[in-house]
Amino acid sequence: MTELIVPTQAAAPAAESGLMVRAEQVHKSFGPLEVLKGIDLEVRAGEVCCLLGPSGSGKSTFLRCINHLEKINAGRIWVDGDLIGYRERGGKLHELRDKEVAAQRQAIGMVFQRFNLFPHMTALANVMEAPLRVRKPKAKPEEPKEQPQEPAEPVQASKKQARKAKDEVRERALALLARVGLADKVNNYPGQLSGGQQQRVAIARALAMQPKLMLFDEPTSALDPELVGEVLEVMKDLARDGMTMIVVTHEIGFAREVGDHLVFMDGGVVVEQGNPREVIANPRHDRTKAFLAKVL
Ligand code: ADP
Ligand code: MG
Repeated sequence: MTELIVPTQAAAPAAESGLMVRAEQVHKSFGPLEVLKGIDLEVRAGEVCCLLGPSGSGKSTFLRCINHLEKINAGRIWVDGDLIGYRERGGKLHELRDKEVAAQRQAIGMVFQRFNLFPHMTALANVMEAPLRVRKPKAKPEEPKEQPQEPAEPVQASKKQARKAKDEVRERALALLARVGLADKVNNYPGQLSGGQQQRVAIARALAMQPKLMLFDEPTSALDPELVGEVLEVMKDLARDGMTMIVVTHEIGFAREVGDHLVFMDGGVVVEQGNPREVIANPRHDRTKAFLAKVL
């Protein structure tokens, strides 16, 4: 296993410079297979970054590293100024505890190619699940200790609080489902929804944790062609609303129209990047040309 390399130069404070994501020399191997060979990438807050590249180039692995679903072997990733997975102290990196990693991951929404909805839950329950699980109200309402105990039973007070919290989560979930155009499907189970509708539920579910960053991994690749548009529309709407997004996609039209930045990856390295319209119209690198010729 490669040792985590701490770059010697001082790192720019990402949050102050308006960066939502900053990756610096990210390396990732699976056993002897080096999948990411030093990825540098920056995504500004509010930007849509489209990540393109042939199958096996490491796009999914890179997204998973940002979300700490995979541990990197070297390099560093910051999201909104926070170093993912580590704390820096005395020039050394210390691994965060599971709880701290979980907190970092909550701030990052992820949508996969396969919708990964809970099949035994309605659309509404799917969207409510994470906020309910994470924000479970404490057993007792928090009160300053010095205060005299109220005669009212604390059990009832906490039940009431729990109900109120659940109502709020439900209201937000209903609003999110309406936002992705599924106000009339909230009580449907995934099996009763089309692929496009399921993917829109998955987007609403990712938004339920109020993430500051959304990662999309080929969100339309598993869909029948006639269902792709409705999912892209929801993503466009999110982009217009200022959400910072990294989108792995082969939808060149989306990259050209919605993307602020395009990154082309091949063989675990960034081969070329720039303004999507410029890169698509005038790819400089042979590998980018060959890839675009296939997907355009
Ligand atoms: P992409 O998303 O660009 O198609 P991936 O990131 O999925 O590429 O995969 C890059 C390479 O890493 C592939 O060769 C793949 O087989 C390998 N890989 C991905 N995940 C694992 C894993 N958990 N264990 C071993 N190899 C993996
Ligand atoms: Mg992939």
